[in-house]
Amino acid sequence: MAKTYILILITLICLPIRCCFVVRPKKIFEEPIIAVAVLWDTDTIYIRSNNYLTLTNQDRITNIPVNTLLMVIENQDSIAVLKNNKIILKNASQITFESEGEINIGYNSKTMTAYHNKILIKKGIVHRFPTIHNLTAINILPIEEYLYGVVSSEIGEAKENEYESIKAQAVCARSYTMSLLGQRKDFDIYGSYLYDQEYKGTAREYPLAIKAVNETRGEIMQYKNEPILAQYHACCGGRTTFGRYPYLQPIIDAPNHSRHKKPYCQDSPYFEWNMKIGRDSFESTILKLAGIPYKFRLNPKLEINKKTKRVEYFKFKSDKEYKVSAESFRKALNLRSTFFTCKIKNDSTEIIGHGWGHGIGLCQYGAMAMARQKITYKNILKHYYSNIKFFRAY
Ligand SMILES: [Zn+2]
Repeated sequence: MAKTYILILITLICLPIRCCFVVRPKKIFEEPIIAVAVLWDTDTIYIRSNNYLTLTNQDRITNIPVNTLLMVIENQDSIAVLKNNKIILKNASQITFESEGEINIGYNSKTMTAYHNKILIKKGIVHRFPTIHNLTAINILPIEEYLYGVVSSEIGEAKENEYESIKAQAVCARSYTMSLLGQRKDFDIYGSYLYDQEYKGTAREYPLAIKAVNETRGEIMQYKNEPILAQYHACCGGRTTFGRYPYLQPIIDAPNHSRHKKPYCQDSPYFEWNMKIGRDSFESTILKLAGIPYKFRLNPKLEINKKTKRVEYFKFKSDKEYKVSAESFRKALNLRSTFFTCKIKNDSTEIIGHGWGHGIGLCQYGAMAMARQKITYKNILKHYYSNIKFFRAY
């Protein structure tokens, strides 16, 4: 009896201790399979593989011999597939191609890009920009394989002594991608830096990028337990700028974020740039953006954000006060950034600028310089993103 009491007592004492030590299981995911839009706004897609190709339309499977060139076209309201100008499949709304080898696809048969795994071709996807044609090709593959291509394209020039910056780039690109999973209807991400991240399939996969992706496998940055939209750009010009989220804060890109120290990206060829244009074209660009159809002399004021030093607006008065966004001005003149000042003279305007890109998040030239100074990839990332935590998602 006494023994039973002692046992119960021990159990009761140990129970709360055990509870304290119970570790809540972490979310363990399998490596996600992602869908990357690689061709869009086209009525024709050429496809060929260096191995056997399997073409699937609903439940119907067609085997295509090695190195056969196929043409996928829009055919009224559906998709058709042609081989030697003969239709081998029609009336499909979507088709998939799979191969053990490389699948080459392109807008024409001369410039094709190689991808792995699976290509889905779909009709009628609505894009975030206006399109004329209706076909979209989507590469479906495991995220880590996709990252081999992205990291190679995005920071391909980084050298052996800048290796930590390549690892930082891998964690950024993975976090960015993971934050978009399930957010869009027909695919996860665009394979272009214009909309998301540059991805050129297996044609651009560099050994150091592959190594960096493998060594950081599954590792992402999180904010409040969610993957962060880790934006990055080529060169900040000395300061980064605000993004949409609290972890994308403007920072001074120098040791300890100090304005008294030399910026990390100062040796970048894009740290400072300038451009001279005629006073007339400077003024007509601003007037056009303001929607004013006639010309007159104007002396616009630059509205500069105190914290980021980037131009936000050009302001000028005519019949009323006008505001033109610096971002639209940047696009119209193909400027590298909105981090600039203008010297307006009688017949010309000089634009003196800093950096290349939107200036949000990690600065690639800064990250490469930090890596050369033996700073680890985690410390590089903590320098550019505020209050983030590292997490291994799978
Ligand atoms: Zn920088």
